[in-house]
Amino acid sequence: MYNEVMYAMGVEPSVIRELFAYGVARKAEIGADKVFDFSIGNPSVPAPASVGHALEEIAQLPPAQVHAYTQAAGDPAVRTIIAENLNARFGTDYTAANLYLTCGAAASLSISLKAVLEPNEEVVVVAPFFPEYRTWIETHGATLVMVPARESDFQIDLDAMAAAITPRTKAVIINSPNNPVGVVYSRETLEGLAALLNAKQDEFGTTIFLISDEPYRELVYGGVEVPWVPSIYANTIVCYSWSKSLSLPGERVGYILVPQTLRDWEHIYFAVAGAGRALGFVCAPAIFQQVIARCIDEPADLAAYEHNRELLTSMLDELGFEYIKPQGAFYLWMRSLDPDAKAFSEQAKKHELLIVASDSFGVEGWARLGYCIAPETITNSRDAFAALKADYE
Ligand code: PLP
Repeated sequence: MYNEVMYAMGVEPSVIRELFAYGVARKAEIGADKVFDFSIGNPSVPAPASVGHALEEIAQLPPAQVHAYTQAAGDPAVRTIIAENLNARFGTDYTAANLYLTCGAAASLSISLKAVLEPNEEVVVVAPFFPEYRTWIETHGATLVMVPARESDFQIDLDAMAAAITPRTKAVIINSPNNPVGVVYSRETLEGLAALLNAKQDEFGTTIFLISDEPYRELVYGGVEVPWVPSIYANTIVCYSWSKSLSLPGERVGYILVPQTLRDWEHIYFAVAGAGRALGFVCAPAIFQQVIARCIDEPADLAAYEHNRELLTSMLDELGFEYIKPQGAFYLWMRSLDPDAKAFSEQAKKHELLIVASDSFGVEGWARLGYCIAPETITNSRDAFAALKADYE
C-alpha cells in the first residue's frame, strides 16, 4: 500500500528535531527563559538588511519576471554573477555552465549523489557526520561507509580513509567547516586526501568524486583558512547554500558547482540536471535567485557567533568540561560525562539543558551544542551546566 522504507523514515523522528520539538513544548510549559536549548542549527543572526531591500526592489518588478519558472539550472544571469564571485575569491574561471542552482545544500547533496551513484556503490563519510547523509546515500541504493575522524584533532584520518576505499567507492563526502565538530580541514589534510584519492583512482581505474558540503564556508573564526577544494582535488563537486552565511535556511537556495576540472564534467553536469529533474525540483526559488544576485557580496555576520563561542568556551573552561574548540560553523563538540551519550543528554534535560547526543552523528561519547542562540541563553545556562557536572562527581 505504501513504501515501507519511506514510511520508516517518516515515522522515525530525527533526534535533533525531536529534541527541538521537546524544547518548544517545554518553553511553553515553564517559560522560554528557563529552557537552555542548544539543539538545532537555525541561525540566530538575522538575515542582512540588504536581503529585505532586495525583496522590496524585486516586488516592484513585473510579476512575470518575479514568479515565473526559471531554467532548471537557474537564471543564467544569476549563475554568471555567482560564477564571477567565486572566480574573484578563488582565482578560478567558472561560468554559468558550471553552476546548477538548488533548494539548499540538502538538495545539492541529494541531487549530486543521485547524479553519480549506481546501486551497491559505496560513499565514505567522516564520523561524526551530518545524519542526513545516510538518508541521501541509502535512498539511491548505495552504502554509507564510516571512517572515524582523527582522534586528536578531528581532522581526516588518512590511514583510516585509505583502508576504507575500495573499487566500489564512488564518492567521499567532506564537510568543512564541520557540523557537528566545528573543525576546519587544513590545506595539509586536504592535500593528503587528494593524494590518497588520486592514488586510489589510479590503482582501481575508477573515478572517486569528492563531494564538498560547505554551507558553513564563510563562518570561521580568527581568519582560519578554508581552502578551495576543487583547486586541490580535480574530481570535486561543491554543494553550497546561503542557509547559514546569509541566515536564509527557510528560503531554500544554494548551488551545485561542477567545475571544468572534474573528469568528464559536462556529462556529470547533465547527470546533475537529470537528477534534479528526477527528484522533482524543477528550479530553485525564483525570487531568492534574484535576491542572491543582489546580495552575493554581503559578508556573513560573524560577530554574534564569535561572541557566543567565547561565552560558551569560557564557561565550559571554568566548569571543567572537555571540548573541541570550534574553528568554524556554530557548533561545539563536548565530551559526554557518561559513556552513554544518550543517557547524558537525558540527564541534561533534567536541568532543562538541551544538547544532542553524539550517537546521532555516528559516534559515541560526545554531545553537540549549537550556539547559534541568544547570548543570554548561554550565560543563564551556567548553573544548569554546573549541576550536570555535579551529577557525575
Ligand atoms: N550539510 C550540513 C553539514 C548541514 O549542517 C546542513 C544543515 O544544517 C545541511 C547540509 C543542509 O543545509 P540546507 O539548509 O542548505 O539544506
